[in-house]
Amino acid sequence: VIAIIGAGCAGWAAAGALREYGFEGGVRLVGAEPLPPYERPVLSKAFLTDPSMAEPPTLGPELTGVELDLGTRVVAIDPEAKTFTTDDERTVAYDKLLLTMGASPRRLDLPGCELEGVHYLREVTDARALRAELGDGRRVVVIGGGVIGLEVAASANGIGCQVSVVELAQEVLARVTPTRLAEKMRKHHAAAGIEFHMGARPVSLVEGNALRVGGVALGTGEIIPADVVFVGIGASPRSDLASAAGLSVDDGVLVDEQLRSSDPNIFAAGDVARVWSFSMRRYVRAEQWRSAEAQGRSAAAAMLDRSAKDVPAPSMWSDQGDLHLQVVGYGLDDDAGLVTRGDLEDRQGLAYFAIRDRRLIGVAGVSRGAGVARQVRPAQALITSGVEIDPAALTDPRLDLRRLVRDGARAQRSGDAGVAAS
Ligand SMILES: Cc1cc2nc3c(=O)[nH]c(=O)nc-3n(C[C@H](O)[C@H](O)[C@H](O)COP(=O)(O)OP(=O)(O)OC[C@H]3O[C@@H](n4cnc5c(N)ncnc54)[C@H](O)[C@@H]3O)c2cc1C
Repeated sequence: VIAIIGAGCAGWAAAGALREYGFEGGVRLVGAEPLPPYERPVLSKAFLTDPSMAEPPTLGPELTGVELDLGTRVVAIDPEAKTFTTDDERTVAYDKLLLTMGASPRRLDLPGCELEGVHYLREVTDARALRAELGDGRRVVVIGGGVIGLEVAASANGIGCQVSVVELAQEVLARVTPTRLAEKMRKHHAAAGIEFHMGARPVSLVEGNALRVGGVALGTGEIIPADVVFVGIGASPRSDLASAAGLSVDDGVLVDEQLRSSDPNIFAAGDVARVWSFSMRRYVRAEQWRSAEAQGRSAAAAMLDRSAKDVPAPSMWSDQGDLHLQVVGYGLDDDAGLVTRGDLEDRQGLAYFAIRDRRLIGVAGVSRGAGVARQVRPAQALITSGVEIDPAALTDPRLDLRRLVRDGARAQRSGDAGVAAS
């Protein structure tokens, strides 16, 4: 029996892959949430703005030949006995175990943070509670200008809330996109009516009526009035079970490139795992949908003693109101060296490319609507193929990036060291 703890994206991907790879033994997927695996990213987007959406869409294709044990929380693992215990006091045996418990929102530790009207977002119950509080004219203060904070801010703004974002750093989306791109996105959101307090430190939440939050006090003494406060200040891996079982844990369950933990029969994938990357020569913990899915599949392969692939390059998207952001690869934190192409108002949007040794290693792009995918998708192919490119050619907005991919593939096939589109 292969058991999987956590029925989110990574657990779902692993369960499906085990069957796809021909595993004929038992597969048991245990999940604390009562719903079958569903699309979590929708929770900060359409689910918040569309009250007619009763449930988030479930992940498809539906799992077959998998025993789903939903509404069940695992409370302890015994690696010696190869068993785990559930909150309804069952002891379940496994041969191999995969941990995919995801991450929990980091909690705000300030006076007043226990007041009513203070929200976090990870699961559908959180999203329902938040959605019930949003509406026309409601004053919403978002603490944290990261991806989830800006998605919630844009969603709330889109349905008529008065939204303020409080961010400690000087720019939003730190560590996610190039600063220049983040600045453009912030200005776009500001033009749509969201107020930004940058370089601002919240020091307490102020009580309004009857134990409800009434505002957010900043270090400057300013109080931003609020009916609702949303906290989006990052997430911590749910690794307590693994620590208690004696596995190596350090900001996530430490696993090798085969997704194997310090116990040979226990693997981990997704937001809970910190995975050794051959190519980067360090442990990496991603909080991204595509990484979770890829790692779930890789862990399934590894548990069947097929070799797992190296962790894929980071790859994420974010929808913030009418803005669509995509980020793939590395090297995007060094603003100075980036090649720029297009404009936010163009259909194909604005993209920044990171190039090392004439090879593309990263791309970040944003557009109104989904158009930027037409730049990011071919860029991803260029990153994967590692073909040489001419940086100057990239900046020409008339050049179809797909041509670079085709030329590069042709040059590689003919053994020609030629540079694509030079
Ligand atoms: C609101 C929101 C929006 C997002 N939007 C995007 C986006 O636009 N793009 C993107 O790339 N990424 C996005 N992400 C990140 C993405 O959803 C995660 O990276 C992905 O869900 C991680 O998958 P996972 O399987 O590791 O964890 P999860 O999907 O969190 O699943 C973990 C599951 O394990 C269960 N669990 C935990 N502990 C136990 C236990 N002890 N016993 C049993 N079950 C347990 C949990 O209840 C949960 O269902 C978003 C995340 C959130 C919260």
